[in-house]
Formats: sequence, C-alpha cells, structure tokens
Amino acid sequence: MPELPDLTVVAEAFHAALAGRPIRSATAPGPLAVRGTPDDLNALGGQRVASIRRRGKFLLLELERDRIVVNPMLTGRFQLASPGTKLPTKTAVVLGFDRRTSGPPKDAAPWTRDTAWLPADDATPEIRYRDPTQMGKVYLLPADVARDVPGMGESEQGPDADDPGLTVEAWRERIRRHPGELKNLLRNQAFIAGIGNAYSDEILHGARLLPFRKRSSLAAEEVDELYRATRSTIAQAIDILRRRVPPTFETQVRDFLAVHMKGGAACPRCGTRITEVKAGGFVTSYCRGCQR
Ligand SMILES: [Zn+2]
Repeated sequence: MPELPDLTVVAEAFHAALAGRPIRSATAPGPLAVRGTPDDLNALGGQRVASIRRRGKFLLLELERDRIVVNPMLTGRFQLASPGTKLPTKTAVVLGFDRRTSGPPKDAAPWTRDTAWLPADDATPEIRYRDPTQMGKVYLLPADVARDVPGMGESEQGPDADDPGLTVEAWRERIRRHPGELKNLLRNQAFIAGIGNAYSDEILHGARLLPFRKRSSLAAEEVDELYRATRSTIAQAIDILRRRVPPTFETQVRDFLAVHMKGGAACPRCGTRITEVKAGGFVTSYCRGCQR
C-alpha cells in the first residue's frame, strides 16, 4: 500500500513534471474506479494543472477549476509515461497533458531539477493510474459539485505525520486521546495521517517499542521517542525513495526497510531473528531482541 513516503515522492515528481500543463485528454478504461460522471471527466480537458500534492494517503491534483483526488488503497499505482507506449493491464484512468512553455514550477522540489526522467516542456506526458484489485478510487471533484471523499473528512484525518506544525508538544497532546496498541495508533489516520502497515513497523523498530504495547503503558520519554522515530523514519525513507523510485513511479521500493516483511532475517540493530505475525489480515514484523 502506498504510504506517506511513497506518495510524497510521486507527488513531488508529478508536480515538477506536470504543473503548468493543460490536460489534453482524460479517459477511464476502468470506469469502476471513478467517482464522477462522464461529463465530469470530459470537463477536465483544457484545465491547467495548478499543483499536485499529497495529503495523508491521498494524491491531490488541483486544476485551475476542478480537483481530482486519488485514494490508491492497497494496490493503486501511478505511472508517468509517453503517449503511445503500452498501457499496463488494469489501467483505470489515463490523463494526458499538453506542452508547457514555463518550465517546471518555481516551487518544484529541488531534487527533481535537471533529472533525466523529467519530461521536456514540449513533450506531452501521461499519468496512468492502474489498480489490479480495483479497490482504490479516483474522485472527480468539479468546483460546483459537492462530493464526499471518504477518509478526507475533517474528523477523519489528523495532521500529516511529517507536518511541520506537528511539534513534539502537539504530539504529546494528541496521543493522550489514544490509549490502545501502538501499531494501531500509528495506522489510525485520525491520529496522524499517511502511515500504514509497513511504516508503522519501521517506526516502532526505530523507537524500540513493541507493536502490541499499549500507549497507556508508555513513559513520557517513550512518547517522545516515538515522535522522533516517526519523523526520522519518514525523512530517511523519503530520501532513499527520491533516489531509487524514478523513473518507475509505479514500483514500490521496500527492500531497504529494517523489519517489515523481513520475518526470519537478522535484525539490523541487534542480530535477533525478526518475528512476523499475521493478525487482522495484515503482517506485523518486529524484533523481540531490541523492541520493548
Ligand atoms: Zn533487534
């Protein structure tokens, strides 16, 4: 499942590649993934991209009038491609973009500058959204239509896990409302947004805390350590993904993770064999040697 680090890199790259370009064509080979009418889809044509960004586990395309929000859920992936190249199977939506004359936007992430994968201004790149399980959704949000995006409501989504406004003081305050198990806490989008199954395991390993421990059992220093591990785990992952993901934005790079899905391997910190348990339909990986 794409999480905050994965989607941050996609959003930064797509913003650099596509902001300032008008949409040339919008088609839905897999219309079941689309929340919106054929008219909503057609109306995207000609609208210029203002920005592409991430919020929680959603990708947001702000156009000059309308918006598109994608929730890729488990298996949704984004490809940046040239038109005419082979369309991947299970492609749900294709957005084609026109030339731009202005170059990449001024607020493009510095790492995207002068990269080989960045389409030339006179190119006409495409975004393809594909989803083998068809669980993800593409919400078309015309300016004059009120359409709910489940999971994006005010009460459903806390601050992004990397939000600069989420200070350690704000973290201490927010975490009080959540007494339960730490893994569930980190994955709870209403607490902090953007973390899922993989990065919750990584953060807990970073904090040396067991996934099934209750937040109510944490000492004050452990609450702060969880905050520091959240920030540093995310920052390190984004740094690695910026180097390793482009140009194949549709691939999920996870091989550098310390514990998640590494059951049976040696813990990189203490050498103990990593434990892996399946509970609630998903895998939790952790180290009994160095997590308490
Ligand atoms: Zn260990």
